[in-house]
Amino acid sequence: QRRPLVAGNWKMNGSRSESATLLDGIRKGVSAASRAEVAVCPPYILIPLTAEKLAGSPAAWGGQNLSVHKSGAYTGEIAGPMLRDYGCTYVIVGHSERRTLNGETDAVVAEKYGAAQAAGLIPILCVGETLQEREANQTEAVVARQLDAVLDRHGIASFRNAVIAYEPVWAIGTGKTATPQQAQEVHRFIRSRLAVRDKAVAENTRILYGGSMKGSNAKELLAQADIDGGLIGGASLQAEEFLTICRAA
Ligand code: 13P
Repeated sequence: QRRPLVAGNWKMNGSRSESATLLDGIRKGVSAASRAEVAVCPPYILIPLTAEKLAGSPAAWGGQNLSVHKSGAYTGEIAGPMLRDYGCTYVIVGHSERRTLNGETDAVVAEKYGAAQAAGLIPILCVGETLQEREANQTEAVVARQLDAVLDRHGIASFRNAVIAYEPVWAIGTGKTATPQQAQEVHRFIRSRLAVRDKAVAENTRILYGGSMKGSNAKELLAQADIDGGLIGGASLQAEEFLTICRAA
């Protein structure tokens, strides 16, 4: 009953012409009849091009980040209503690269999640442990803490309009994917954490896996009971590779 979502996170990649080629390829390959919903999250500056290229196609698009504010004197920032104005459906919040490199705390991430929903965007909330945390058996504690920061602030009902992405930090951009069993274990934990507050919401919330997912390993990851799609970095930069993952969902 949960429709899979495969979302590409382009991160800080793509010239205008490379992106046009990629978007044309995605537009051609994505079908309204496909089981999975498809979305791309390009850098801010490429969102107008994305909107132009994907308008009228079944593919959706979104931002990689947003400001906690709606507008005002915040040089260099982009607000949720601006993303909405360019047709964004989704916005990634709390990606580990932003948590680590931009110092986004659980509190900031929770604020961004709320700002996204206030703007009519669906947040894709990223959670995940580092290698050090996994080795110290802290995986569930870390994921629970990241999740609870949002649950405590915005409530379980807010997850009717949200997507979660489990992205083990050690699997991001490393070519080291979590095994399907490792991923499933954490996905099930996340769903059970939601279920404590509301069973129906937990059943309906999509939980994506992210971290070195590619055409060749997507099928077995996506076959897991609680894996409802993927958040794809490197492998989303080539249309055929990305579409292979979309078709596997
Ligand atoms: P990779 O697919 O490049 O490992 O990146 C995953 C990711 O961080 C998606 O948000």
